[in-house]
Amino acid sequence: AKDAGRNNYQFYESRLSTLVSTRLTLENRLRRALERQEFELYYQPQVDIASGDFIGLEAMLRWNDPDEGPVEPDVFIPVAEDSGLIVPIGAWVLRTACAQAEAWRSKHLIDVPMAVNLSARQFDEASLLDIVADVLEDTGLPADRLELELTESLIMRNPELTADVLDGAKRLGVMIGVDDFGTGYSSLAYLKRFPIDRLKIDRSFIADIETEPDDAAIAETIIAMAHTLRIQVLAEGVETVGQLRMLRGWACDAYQGYLCSRPLPADDMNALLKGLRAA
Ligand code: C2E
Ligand code: CA
Ligand code: CA
Ligand code: CA
Repeated sequence: AKDAGRNNYQFYESRLSTLVSTRLTLENRLRRALERQEFELYYQPQVDIASGDFIGLEAMLRWNDPDEGPVEPDVFIPVAEDSGLIVPIGAWVLRTACAQAEAWRSKHLIDVPMAVNLSARQFDEASLLDIVADVLEDTGLPADRLELELTESLIMRNPELTADVLDGAKRLGVMIGVDDFGTGYSSLAYLKRFPIDRLKIDRSFIADIETEPDDAAIAETIIAMAHTLRIQVLAEGVETVGQLRMLRGWACDAYQGYLCSRPLPADDMNALLKGLRAA
């Protein structure tokens, strides 16, 4: 039994050091990726449920490591957050997304808000609003064509700071969206204290609305309550016509998901937008 215990210990110790060294390597690779500009943004349309029009685009960070191939955002973004690298990476995302939005606007391909995801670490930087203001000025994108997406947990983590930063963002004129709604601990009534334009129901609640009455009830209730508070609602991760039909029945405003399009590289989105304009 003693031996087994020691073996176990050695097993965990070596597992732990593997985890730690993997993490360090990934962090160093991320640092290098930023220097070598290995990041790219993909864009996913946000669709008005009643009209089918594109009413927004969301920028999604992608990393194609030249040695290891594409790395999932859910793998590298937490490491970027823990190491603080998300601050310079996030500034790059903001600038690139706004420049792209303004390029499509000036070509008359699309003129809708560009949604950009923000991490808590970026939110904690006193310079966040200065960066946003600089990027808008440098790119020429009107403030109301930028939407900052914050998760519910980021908002609830420090409500005082959140209120200050969001009020500042509203003074600049940018839109505010709540991402992954339903996964954190908050209520719509509480969220109403913040200047929120829109909330996005998390994909985990949408996935099974066709088969799980509880999920359907949750989604329907979120939509109804948000509308009572005059907040727009977008459903994330819509993949089927059946889901879309149910959301339409509940008067959900907009959706995002593979049913319309996966996130696309800028060139592919450009082609899609040109096709839509020609049609
Ligand atoms: P998110 O903001 O909730 O983004 C939605 C995620 O769902 C994206 O995954 C998107 O590709 C995926 N998705 C969209 N439609 C569907 C669908 O119909 N079905 C399914 N199964 N998935 C769908 P992705 O691109 O892997 O991003 C994962 C997360 O990484 C994002 O979740 C966001 O939290 C974070 N992220 C992405 N880009 C950035 C960024 O620039 N900055 C920060 N801080 N976080 C980012
Ligand atoms: Ca998002
Ligand atoms: Ca989300
Ligand atoms: Ca998510």
